[in-house]
Amino acid sequence: MPDANHFVADSHDSPKPNENAPYTHFETNAIRTQTPRSAQKEHAVPIFATSSFIFDDAEEARALFASEKEGNIYSRYSNPNNDEFIQKLCLLEGTEDGMAMASGMAAMFLSIASFVRSGDHILACRSLFGSTHQILTQILPRWGITHTYADWDDLENWENYITPQTKMIFVESPSNPGLDLLDLEKLGKLAKKHNLLLNVDNCFATPYLQNPAKWGADIITHSATKFIDGQGRVLGGAILGRKDLIQEVRYMARHTGPAMSPFHGWVLSKSLETLAVRMEKHCQNALEIATFLEQHPQTEWVKYPFLPSHPQYELAKKQMRLGGGLLTFELKGGQTRAVRFLDALKMISLTPNLGDTRSIITHPATTTHSKLSDQEQQKVSITKGLVRLSVGLEHVEDIKADLTQAIAASEE
Ligand SMILES: *Cc1c(COP(=O)(O)O)cnc(C)c1O
Repeated sequence: MPDANHFVADSHDSPKPNENAPYTHFETNAIRTQTPRSAQKEHAVPIFATSSFIFDDAEEARALFASEKEGNIYSRYSNPNNDEFIQKLCLLEGTEDGMAMASGMAAMFLSIASFVRSGDHILACRSLFGSTHQILTQILPRWGITHTYADWDDLENWENYITPQTKMIFVESPSNPGLDLLDLEKLGKLAKKHNLLLNVDNCFATPYLQNPAKWGADIITHSATKFIDGQGRVLGGAILGRKDLIQEVRYMARHTGPAMSPFHGWVLSKSLETLAVRMEKHCQNALEIATFLEQHPQTEWVKYPFLPSHPQYELAKKQMRLGGGLLTFELKGGQTRAVRFLDALKMISLTPNLGDTRSIITHPATTTHSKLSDQEQQKVSITKGLVRLSVGLEHVEDIKADLTQAIAASEE
């Protein structure tokens, strides 16, 4: 039963569960909250591979469509697998409600589009996932929705960028791939003061490491494709927040159709059961690799939120439980060395995903962020030689061995 002292000892313990949370601890809520058993008495939840649901009679159909009664109608609106996934995620993030989306980008888009109208303005951190950047700079302007980018190291001036048209603040922390942080408590207060919606893409941290709702975020968005699935199998996304806000999202989703597949909902609900143990190990391996690389004579620098050398180490300790599964570093010899190093790796995968059991490496300057100008890259902390490593769950000595041999092989 709930242990009353649990939330007192450590501010990075589980989010305070909303009143629906049946258990006190993160792991138990992730594992023991399930769709009610069917007549088959299954232990694991079945996949509800059905596009629609049966009405008992015409009157029930009428009542469901009139929202006088709760229940499933059609899988574009709701499905038991997606609902189980999202309800668990709400317990883990400490939010009232949520909606599953077909992908992280569907979540990013709808979490903005549900709340802005032509003429509105969005204040966003410049360090954003590439497709979110496209939505703000290329897609929303088609409908007269504008934005201002602010920099992570200029937070004290963000208030000056708010206009009477501003409706939302959109941020990522830690950022991809810069691993710069934003003080979520300060942002929560700023949003509240100006009556703006604070929308936080919490993909890098996952609800196990950071709960933006605790600091005042109104909307929390996820790409479930990354650490939430954690095994590189499916695409998925989520929008979480207060009931009244999710009501807007649900309306938009119902009529525009970015619904998650029930199979993906099933996979992702299972994935949440192991999120805590996976994140513990990702973070343990990442800290060990970061420390190892920092001591290596061939590295120029290493960046990881829980390394004391990270410029925002104190903030990381304040708002994150552990440092996350991603780190960046640069070898001596800049871009040409980085490319030789990537080509020399034997085990670590060269693929654009992250948050997988397998360690993954990328060179953002020539791939995901190649469309940014040199000056723009600099502003989001991308150097020409920067490589981004998503540290997997292989044995840490095997990851080190592959890095070591590739560092040696890439020396001139
Ligand atoms: C991957 C990612 C997304 C997009 O998610 P998809 O599931 O690929 O659509 C959004 N934000 C961040 C921070 C990401 O890493």
